Amino acid sequence: MPRQFFVGGNFKMNPVTRDQKRVLIKTLNDATLDPRTEVVIAPPSLYLIPVRESLREDVKLSAQDCYIKVSGAFTGEISAAQLVDAGIPYVILGHSERRSIFGESSELVATKTRVALDAGLSVILCVGETLQERETGKTQQVIEGQLKAVIDVTKPEDWSKIVIAYEPVWAIGTGKVATSAQAQETHKATREYLAKAISSAVAGATRIIYGGSVTASNCKELSTQPDVDGFLVGGASLKPEFVDIINSKK
Ligand code: PEP
Repeated sequence: MPRQFFVGGNFKMNPVTRDQKRVLIKTLNDATLDPRTEVVIAPPSLYLIPVRESLREDVKLSAQDCYIKVSGAFTGEISAAQLVDAGIPYVILGHSERRSIFGESSELVATKTRVALDAGLSVILCVGETLQERETGKTQQVIEGQLKAVIDVTKPEDWSKIVIAYEPVWAIGTGKVATSAQAQETHKATREYLAKAISSAVAGATRIIYGGSVTASNCKELSTQPDVDGFLVGGASLKPEFVDIINSKK
């Protein structure tokens, strides 16, 4: 079965006003989107429910994170069970900003992944190396370590609900996009690792999307790479060009 192209928009802590949020949703609602692409947007949790009420039905929603407990005294957190109850199908876990700014370890990301899957969510699992790790030849070692923590707490069948987002830290929000050759090489090596660590069936079926300074002008070439199954888009998901990125396979 061919892997369905996937484009996610990670709004991060944007936009600041509800008026700006309405404009973003209107742009998506008015656009002609390639029906072959699975489209998921991740607005701040504050906006998830109002966006669900106003967004076209063929675009899905994702949270940007969730906690490891179902409920209780965890001020500021949101649980996977609450997301499921609100009708949210996806959650982004292990984003590099969560790992670096909020100190999330691969083990915590793995626990969150287990809890999210058990609650019924699908997971956009972010992995990726820093510039220093790339320059010292550690890219694959870092990605495999981040993935192994999740592989250790999952079964092969769980992977039908996991999308891997390869997001080199040096490319996120920097305007420095990976070349299509760099993305392809890393995605291919990551798929080979999945085959070795889980199974060739899981490796063949799991979507590995690229994230890091994707724009309307670089998405077409990246999308032609055989192991690039889509994109996770930050900055450009807040602009009208997000529609062009969604339609990059057209
Ligand atoms: C991201 O934060 O997931 C991301 C890919 O950001 P940007 O597209 O802005 O580099």
